[in-house]
Amino acid sequence: MEIKVIDSPAAMQEHALQRQLPCAMVPTMGALHRGHLELIRVARTQVKSGGEVTVSIYVNPLQFEPGADFEKYPRPEAADESACRDAGVDVLFRPREIYFPDRSVFVEENVLANSLCGASRPGHFRGVCTVVAKLFHLVAPQSAIFGEKDYQQLAVIRRMVRDLNFAIKVIGVPTVREADGLALSSRNQYLNTIERSEATVLRRAALEMKAAVADGEKSVSKLLLGAREMIQSRPNARIDYLSIVDGQTLQPLDSMREDSVLALAVWIGRTRLIDNLRLA
Ligand code: AMP
Repeated sequence: MEIKVIDSPAAMQEHALQRQLPCAMVPTMGALHRGHLELIRVARTQVKSGGEVTVSIYVNPLQFEPGADFEKYPRPEAADESACRDAGVDVLFRPREIYFPDRSVFVEENVLANSLCGASRPGHFRGVCTVVAKLFHLVAPQSAIFGEKDYQQLAVIRRMVRDLNFAIKVIGVPTVREADGLALSSRNQYLNTIERSEATVLRRAALEMKAAVADGEKSVSKLLLGAREMIQSRPNARIDYLSIVDGQTLQPLDSMREDSVLALAVWIGRTRLIDNLRLA
């Protein structure tokens, strides 16, 4: 079936209201890569061939803090559209704008969103929750697919869906990586050759930490120190945060236990990369 491209919120909502089929949606900011394609594949498994897979592409200004990369964020529209077509997407929702100029209502999660990325990017998750809530209303899917690469985002969205009673099943998908372990990200294209090779340190530090945990290391401070030293040995790397947290509450742990997750954000040159790994 031909892909249907919808570029206005009103037309999207009209389409959703008429739709008789189950719908699975994949919200993105575009610059699609194999990570996004994996989410699309999982979306299809949710609705089978009779249902509708909708991908949204919207670079959401509300989730970029002032001075961040909103303007330069990649927007390869033609390539994204053909990637969606090739992946068998039914509907591409690609609005130019979805906010009213005098908007005055926002959606905020106030516990999980405060640590990690929320602490270093004030307002980020308020922007994410607000746009995702709007997209959920406009697209009205039965399920929505998100990547575990953005671990905190997934937790915050699950909480929003629970607390605001969205009738939507949220599905998390494991991170898709390059052969050398770097998590795929639309921002990887900002990296020059040297930075690209240094960027593998996020994954290497995470795996080394996991191996130390498997060997019986229980001290969070020792584990963090080992990772910190490894990352800081890369000339262009600067740690934004490096934290071992409870996988549910996202609160920092002081000793290792079940359901612990390493979460890290590292600047490589002028590019901020994130990753995470379940340790136990
Ligand atoms: P973005 O376009 O970066 O906002 O990401 C859109 C969705 O794709 C989010 O749910 C991300 O978590 C997910 N995603 C991004 N990179 C990856 C990846 N490497 N593997 C799996 N999912 C990803």
